[in-house]
Amino acid sequence: MEEKILELCKKKDLKIGIMGGTFNPIHYGHLVTAEEALIQFNLDKVIFIPTGIPPHKTKGILASAEDRYLMTVIATASNQDFFVSRIEIDKKKTCYTIDTLRYLKSIFLDKATLYFITGADAILEILTWKDTEEILKLCKFIAATRPGYDAAKIKDLTTKITKDFGLSQDKKDHIYIMEIPALAISSTDIRKRIRENKPIKYLLPEGVCNYLLKHNLYK
Ligand code: ATP
Ligand code: MG
Repeated sequence: MEEKILELCKKKDLKIGIMGGTFNPIHYGHLVTAEEALIQFNLDKVIFIPTGIPPHKTKGILASAEDRYLMTVIATASNQDFFVSRIEIDKKKTCYTIDTLRYLKSIFLDKATLYFITGADAILEILTWKDTEEILKLCKFIAATRPGYDAAKIKDLTTKITKDFGLSQDKKDHIYIMEIPALAISSTDIRKRIRENKPIKYLLPEGVCNYLLKHNLYK
């Protein structure tokens, strides 16, 4: 898979989406978000990057990095514009977004614009990340919200960081808000349903569902 990404680096004027996440497990909320970003922002590819050891504490059971990577591969296999990278899971220590972005920038150089795709919840944590200022210089952000979601919080945040870090006055240069269909699916809820023997069918791809049952994950 990394070979495919390196091959991509030879092209010019690319728009690459980066979908980072714990993917514990990956579900349709992640896939719809990535697909909408691909279409709405005319991206060339989306690279899914499962985290190795997440810097933020995870509530509940965390499946192994390899299981989360394989589930991400299964979920994205049929989409030729989706790639999965092992760069974070192969690192033994905690991996920060900034390290991954620096790495991607070093391989794509100025040939690609990187778009970090997140849910509205994740973008609001941005100020707690390490090196926010540098992150904003390395990539743009696409923050997914549901129709009817109050985007005021995100707008306040972009105004604040634009001011704090002296970035371009046109804050749209750094953070885009993207409306996606409502999807009240989360990995936390899926793990809870598995523990409680409730159905998870149609919340995540069938292949992922079979994989986690076969490997007895989240029980
Ligand atoms: P958990 O419940 O364990 O936190 P999660 O469902 O939030 O899991 P993550 O792996 O934490 O999934 O999220 C990866 C990225 O996907 C984040 O940017 C998050 O905001 C986004 N995301 C998660 N669920 C959805 C959803 N239903 N719709 C849109 N974006 C989502
Ligand atoms: Mg989450």
